[in-house]
Amino acid sequence: MMGVEGMRNSTRARVAACCLLAATTFLVIMLMAGPVASLTTASMTTAGTTRLQLVASGGGEVVPPDGDYLSPAQRAEIEAMLAANIGMLTAAGTLTQPRATEQIALDWPLAARDGFTDPGYHAITGFVDHTPDIPNKLTDYACGGRTYSGHKGTDIFMWPFAWNKMAAGDVTIAAAADGVIVGRRDGNPDQSCNFNSNSWNAVYVRHADGSIAWYGHMKRGSLTTRGVGSMVSAGEYLGLVGSSGNSTGPHLHFELHDYQGQLLDPYIGSCNPLEGGSWWASQPNYYDSAINKLMTGTGPVSWKACPLPDDTNEAIQFQPGDRITFSTYYRDQLNTLPSLYRIRGPNGAIFAQWSQTIKPAHYALSQWWWSYDFPASVMTGTWRFEVEFNGRTYSHTFYVGEPATPTPTPIPTATATPFPDDYPRNYLPGVMRPSAP
Ligand SMILES: [Zn+2]
Repeated sequence: MMGVEGMRNSTRARVAACCLLAATTFLVIMLMAGPVASLTTASMTTAGTTRLQLVASGGGEVVPPDGDYLSPAQRAEIEAMLAANIGMLTAAGTLTQPRATEQIALDWPLAARDGFTDPGYHAITGFVDHTPDIPNKLTDYACGGRTYSGHKGTDIFMWPFAWNKMAAGDVTIAAAADGVIVGRRDGNPDQSCNFNSNSWNAVYVRHADGSIAWYGHMKRGSLTTRGVGSMVSAGEYLGLVGSSGNSTGPHLHFELHDYQGQLLDPYIGSCNPLEGGSWWASQPNYYDSAINKLMTGTGPVSWKACPLPDDTNEAIQFQPGDRITFSTYYRDQLNTLPSLYRIRGPNGAIFAQWSQTIKPAHYALSQWWWSYDFPASVMTGTWRFEVEFNGRTYSHTFYVGEPATPTPTPIPTATATPFPDDYPRNYLPGVMRPSAP
């Protein structure tokens, strides 16, 4: 297993790579500004006098550093704590003997807060490593390499704007199955950017079959008020996603152990042939391709160094003559899945349309943006930014001129949480690899 120091070095190497990005602009798409041929004459006339002008574009893959690490000493401490609590709860009659024959069906362990409107919020950045003892070999449940050395859980990163999401409490951790809380730990710092040997904040839930789910890296002070010995139901709030412990950014490390304490990867696949089938009630696809967010803004995102929230420049209200930046944030973008982009005016007419397909096979996380000048003569009213991707049409509404009625709900903005001056800030939240389309 790679040591902590080795991982730090690896992180530094990626920082160097990141800086190529700033100087690299790459046009990724064939773009057609203005109306498409199928428009009516009337709308073509309107659109023709108000052609949108593409002025800049960019984006690419975002590679988060390896997500986390529990040292052997930290694992031993957790296991001793759980054993002691389980002994105490069993003696008290709170815990019954495990019903080992009854396999649990796990629900998705995250949920968006009420009022969160983006179509998604996460990307998988590391599955369980099934060949932890073979150096330089990474094997996830599907025999792919989407893991890192010795990783024992599933890392579900927030994407995009992980620190903004953490500050806003956008994503909650929910119990994947009914059970009893057999351990909890809170009070540890929650803004880790690297492996700092801190302990994490976590909740541990034992299910009826004796299996135990570990929910790690929680935001400090966000844990459920339920204590050790309390029952929780599937879907019940356990805490907020954070970056406590050895962690490189806000994410959930979800780890599962069977009733004998053996590590269990809940995903079934050719390198993890589970006899009873997947432990997920509905196992997501290996490539769970989707767009997490469509955004309009006053300019490209200003990505900040960990752990600062990004300056998103998000806006939905504009005026004629403004420059508007359109951006998208994908998880599991594949080169077999083209995207079709459209900007529609208030009359439904298409003012710009383009398509995009990446050349590399897969990006776990990616972001793309295009800035258009909207001329002073542009139609006012409610506009739409649409993307067709993987069988779904995503739509985002923005306004030019007077706000439409009812007045759109303001977009919540995250505030930066103060952090010590000596806090490590040695890399950006993701390394953007310049890559040819
Ligand atoms: Zn992890």
